[in-house]
Amino acid sequence: MEQQSWFELIPQEDLIKWRRYFHQHPELSFKETATSKKITEILESFGHVEVTHPTSTSVLGTITGNYPGKKILLRADIDGLPVAEETGLSFSSHNDGVMQACGHDTHTAILLATTQVLTQLRSKLHGTVQVIFQHAEEQVPGGAKEVVASGLLHDLDGVIGLHIMTGLKTGSINIVDDGPVSTGADAFEVTIQGRGSHGSMPQEGVDPITVGTEIVNQLHTITSRFTPPKDLNVVTVGKFNAGTAVNVLPDTAIFGGTVRTVDESTRQAIADRIKKIIKNTCDTYGATYKLDYQFAYAAVQNDALLAQLVKKSALKVLPKEMVPEGAMMSGSEDFSAYGKVAPLCFFLLGGGTAEEGYPYSNHSPKFIINEAALINGVKTEVASVLELLKE
Ligand SMILES: [Zn+2]
Ligand SMILES: [Zn+2]
Repeated sequence: MEQQSWFELIPQEDLIKWRRYFHQHPELSFKETATSKKITEILESFGHVEVTHPTSTSVLGTITGNYPGKKILLRADIDGLPVAEETGLSFSSHNDGVMQACGHDTHTAILLATTQVLTQLRSKLHGTVQVIFQHAEEQVPGGAKEVVASGLLHDLDGVIGLHIMTGLKTGSINIVDDGPVSTGADAFEVTIQGRGSHGSMPQEGVDPITVGTEIVNQLHTITSRFTPPKDLNVVTVGKFNAGTAVNVLPDTAIFGGTVRTVDESTRQAIADRIKKIIKNTCDTYGATYKLDYQFAYAAVQNDALLAQLVKKSALKVLPKEMVPEGAMMSGSEDFSAYGKVAPLCFFLLGGGTAEEGYPYSNHSPKFIINEAALINGVKTEVASVLELLKE
């Protein structure tokens, strides 16, 4: 690592002030009206940022460098979650039942600080920097898809995003070198329509419980008997509801689950397999069904070259031990949608470990991160942009 002259441009006090402001005023996905207004105000206060809105609650800023060159997009998500905060922080949520429980307040503050630094360095930049403050990461179909569909993103050479996460050392920058960073997450819900009858006369009915449980058992053969062992995937049925009395065959059984994949063709193949199993089993028993299959977020795939560049940049501005080998995150992310327009690099910023005093995971009502981590996010983002846009 080396001390960089631009470190002194980082607005350290505002970084924390902004983070706390957004923490205190969280808004739900697709409803980030006040949040996006505040972000717009702050961006406009910097000067030299051209601001547009791809959707009603997202904000896109553009900084044009002095010289022609590449074009990079940095992304922060801005939405909160329907969680009642229990952190006891002095700047706890003012909006009942809504909380920045996934740390998107920190992402927003980090990207604002990064933008401010870059506006001051624009005379050195070869190319264009865009910053997207993206709405609705937490709610399917996700805001990223809408931002991409707006058509405002084009000719990008890369998109970089970060996520703060507890369980990782404060301020550490965790980058997966190549390939999947998160799993894709899809969901399905099935209603099996049978025909109710007396429990003592099953031959008179069509038992949706038998049909449903048989389907569930077959779904569990997908990962073990259908996809190659090296191809990471999970099929989980997380709910199953049927019947009200021990001696009555019900009319319907309703169940549903989640499908996690890292490979796009496997993702499609599993969906097809699930449909086939449901159809064939229902046909065998004379039941009918309704299937609602929702393709939600694809896996985020890091581009090897871009990931290498971000890692190199992080190592320039942080001590080596703060840039460990990155591992896949367990959650999924709508950041994958930007893969349609450019190569991606998504990395995790350590929000603090249990030993450091940060035991609660993202989405917990007690989720607290170490604010000391934020500055390393800014340093990594700025350094990555400077590396990519140097001549
Ligand atoms: Zn989240
Ligand atoms: Zn998140």
